[in-house]
Amino acid sequence: MGLEDRLRGFLVELIRLATTRLPRDVYEALERALEAEDNPLARMQLEAILENSRLAARLGRPICQDTGAPFFYLRVGDGFPLRSRLYDVAREAVREATRTVPLRPNAVDPLRGRNSGDNTGRYTPWVEVELVPGESLEAVYAPKGGGSEAPTGLYMALPLEGVGAVHRAVLETVAGAGPRACPPFVVGVGVAATGDQALALAKRALLLRRLGERHPDPEAAELEEKLLREVNELGLGAHGFGGRVTALDLHLEYGHRHPATYAVGVVLSCWALRRASGVFMPDGSWRITSSHI
Ligand code: SF4
Repeated sequence: MGLEDRLRGFLVELIRLATTRLPRDVYEALERALEAEDNPLARMQLEAILENSRLAARLGRPICQDTGAPFFYLRVGDGFPLRSRLYDVAREAVREATRTVPLRPNAVDPLRGRNSGDNTGRYTPWVEVELVPGESLEAVYAPKGGGSEAPTGLYMALPLEGVGAVHRAVLETVAGAGPRACPPFVVGVGVAATGDQALALAKRALLLRRLGERHPDPEAAELEEKLLREVNELGLGAHGFGGRVTALDLHLEYGHRHPATYAVGVVLSCWALRRASGVFMPDGSWRITSSHI
């Protein structure tokens, strides 16, 4: 088997793992939510979510019927041998996983209304590449469900509103999402100079950081905790039945802004926050680095 085939096999395994087995940190956050919850209807939802996740892992079936839009985050060593082939191999891996996992075909041409049938298309899968020193490839696959993507919020606030704009953006987005985005949520927040930067940072914070991990900047970490408390005070609860746990966690990332702008992006994940990661070596060996139930 050639190196490219091995790489495709590695990416297919990441897709299979992410789709069928919830990350352990997400499962444990859901268990803690059940412990903290006292509304019987919300408790029933959380019990069903946990049972559903265990069954999916045991049977090797997708955690949710919406197997998401495909996202790869790749950290590519400057000596990695297949750099120029990464986009094509990622696309082939998505095609193969669509048949073998299987995945629901979710890629629709927005101008013609046609579903490609294999989860690939223009800019699909979405592949973000970061160049790093070394020879290996670190890969994360994180499919993004459509229901929790719909309420995404972008606020181009006035700079004089300052951090108040972040509170407003988060609370308005979560309150507007309501039950249709399958809470309890994980909330990703990005603050930056431009709208596209804010949303990109929000998505990275949402999908790449483990639940319970705080931002290394103490002020950002304190803001994360404050915002998480405020979101939970909204009382939406699991699947909108009311309760103490509306969000399992909230992650914020920021970049320096322009003096005239204050862009805040808010991206939500439903309870089914799915991701799998691993490392692929230039000799074709690989290992999974994420932990799953
Ligand atoms: S929002 Fe999440 S849990 Fe709800 S249907 Fe979509 S992927 Fe599934």
